[in-house]
Amino acid sequence: MLPELEKLLVIQDRDEKIREVRKDIDRIPLEEENAKQRLAGDLKAVDEAKLAGQENEVAIKNFQLEVETCQNTLVRLKTQQFETRKNEEFSALGHEIERYDKQIVELEDQELELMEKAETLKAVLDEARGKLAATQKLVDEELEKLGERRGICQEQLDELCAERKQLASQVDPDSLFLYDRMSKNKGNVIVQLDDDSGMCGGCHMKVTTATMHKARAEVEFAHCEQCSRILYVIDDDA
Ligand SMILES: [Zn+2]
Repeated sequence: MLPELEKLLVIQDRDEKIREVRKDIDRIPLEEENAKQRLAGDLKAVDEAKLAGQENEVAIKNFQLEVETCQNTLVRLKTQQFETRKNEEFSALGHEIERYDKQIVELEDQELELMEKAETLKAVLDEARGKLAATQKLVDEELEKLGERRGICQEQLDELCAERKQLASQVDPDSLFLYDRMSKNKGNVIVQLDDDSGMCGGCHMKVTTATMHKARAEVEFAHCEQCSRILYVIDDDA
């Protein structure tokens, strides 16, 4: 193989690895986002349970206020009844007092129901919080792993880039320029030419006999007529 081609092949190998590592690094933010998204459902459950508890508390407060109002009215009615001298008014107030007594009992029953409901809601909230904490732990672990992976990838990338730079400094600048220009669009530009079928390893089209001879001769670069990639043949006897 042409010595320049051999050197470029090594560079091409590093470039391929660099592309892979870059792809890995680029994927990490998306994976981090996906991991965080796993918390969304649990966070929602906690928020909903919290809200239900708060609404229940407000409802209990309202019943308590209503009971208080009824009790105040009751005190006033009892005083009025005590002070009246009219028989009719006395009995009318008596009915009123009875009505308020009943209402207070009803309100207190409803309040009690809500207090029982508060217990259930608290249990639901505790469970939701527990589940969130468990998921959070898993997500934190995953994020930590992703962070580690980012560090490792970055290290690999730095090493590969340094190596690539070193390798590039040893190649003839014109050949390197040609390789760089072509590889920008095509990825791997140095490909094997199948010695038997005459097929280009890049575009899989058959090259001309003249090109096959040129590639075998190993005097100058042989390009595929279809895709212009640089061709090399592997000598079976070697
Ligand atoms: Zn080709």
